[in-house]
Amino acid sequence: MNFDFTEKQQRIADQAKQIAQKLDLEDVVQRDLAGTFSKPLFRQLINQGVGKWLLPKSMKGDDLNALELTAGIESLAEHCEDSGLIFALSAHLCACIHPIRAFASSEQQAQWLPKITNEAWIGTHAITEPQAGSDIYAMTTNAQKSEDGFVLNGHKDYITNAPVADFIVVHLRTEDRGNYFDYSTFILHSHEYGVSLAKAPHSKSGLRTTAMGDIHFNDCQVPEDALIGRLGAGAPIFQVSMEWERVCLFALYLGQMKRQLQKTAHYVSERQQFDAPLSSYQAVQHQLCDMYFNYETGRLLLYKAAWSLDKGDMSGVASSLAKISISNAAISNGQTAVQLHGAQGVISGDIERMLRDAMPSAIFSGTSNVLKNNISTALIKRLKAQWI
Ligand SMILES: Cc1cc2nc3c(=O)[nH]c(=O)nc-3n(C[C@H](O)[C@H](O)[C@H](O)COP(=O)(O)OP(=O)(O)OC[C@H]3O[C@@H](n4cnc5c(N)ncnc54)[C@H](O)[C@@H]3O)c2cc1C
Repeated sequence: MNFDFTEKQQRIADQAKQIAQKLDLEDVVQRDLAGTFSKPLFRQLINQGVGKWLLPKSMKGDDLNALELTAGIESLAEHCEDSGLIFALSAHLCACIHPIRAFASSEQQAQWLPKITNEAWIGTHAITEPQAGSDIYAMTTNAQKSEDGFVLNGHKDYITNAPVADFIVVHLRTEDRGNYFDYSTFILHSHEYGVSLAKAPHSKSGLRTTAMGDIHFNDCQVPEDALIGRLGAGAPIFQVSMEWERVCLFALYLGQMKRQLQKTAHYVSERQQFDAPLSSYQAVQHQLCDMYFNYETGRLLLYKAAWSLDKGDMSGVASSLAKISISNAAISNGQTAVQLHGAQGVISGDIERMLRDAMPSAIFSGTSNVLKNNISTALIKRLKAQWI
């Protein structure tokens, strides 16, 4: 077993560091308070090289696998204080670009991928509906076959990047037989066919520099070639997208926790109370150690999940364990970092923002409860089969 990065993983992590360090984040506190997503910064990330990360080699892309993308996102988030921006980017990569490269036809890839990259188009991935959150297969938003393609009707909500999106990858009901093949995946321009995007993003407590909102479809006639993969193949496409989110997107929180650890260790070493640095007190040392322990255990689970994903593991067990561990760690470490910074920790800025940005991590891409249900079901089957 080798825990070192390969040459390519290291190259991507170094590239990500350089790209992140060039971002002008002077106004991140103001944008966070105002709840503003920065399109120029998103474009800069794409144009500086991130846009090529998931492009196939045939399009002169880096064609990163899950481990490599995990290394890239972790490094971006470590060196960029705008976690909302990296969240918007990671959702675009994992849930919009990856399904296109994995499931779209070569004609669709040629039609979409160069434009998305060259023009830094922003993608949004829509599954959730007001009445279909964790119970996602209860979705009612649908696509009915028509003469020239499909007619779409319904409402998706809580969708990352929806208010600023140039294109949409959307999962819709195409049958009502009550089985796994009732769903299909579509790709659409967001400003055509009468699709209606939320103009104002939802105001939320964390990840405020990402725009989130709803999408309405009202008799939207879309062409036949909007369908990705076969009719009825939406559920597996959705599952793969979720695997990539639970693994690669969550590297964002690893990067964030590393930055938080560095800042907190520095602060407790410098700050003096009772004529000694805070770091000289054993209670503080233990809190710092707990933060490091959370970070390291989450990191081991996440890279193992990325490795499993690259080997074709779609069971969801490794990714769910990693996601639960990282979201718990990010929330817990966020609280400890605020506590150890005292009043400084609650003044608007990176330390308090990291706690707020961590809070939704236990909700999106599958809530912790629902993932635990899935892990337990798989665990019981594996124990019966003596596979553990
Ligand atoms: C920041 C953010 C970004 C998001 N981005 C996107 C996006 O880009 N695209 C998209 O489609 N969606 C997105 N979502 C929506 C997200 O996927 C849903 O919020 C999530 O699936 C949970 O659904 P819900 O909010 O309706 O909660 P519910 O499903 O109503 O769950 C509420 C609570 O009940 C618990 N619960 C539900 N069912 C069970 C059960 N069977 N057993 C035990 N406990 C249960 C849950 O764990 C949770 O604690 C985003 C959400 C957030 C917060």
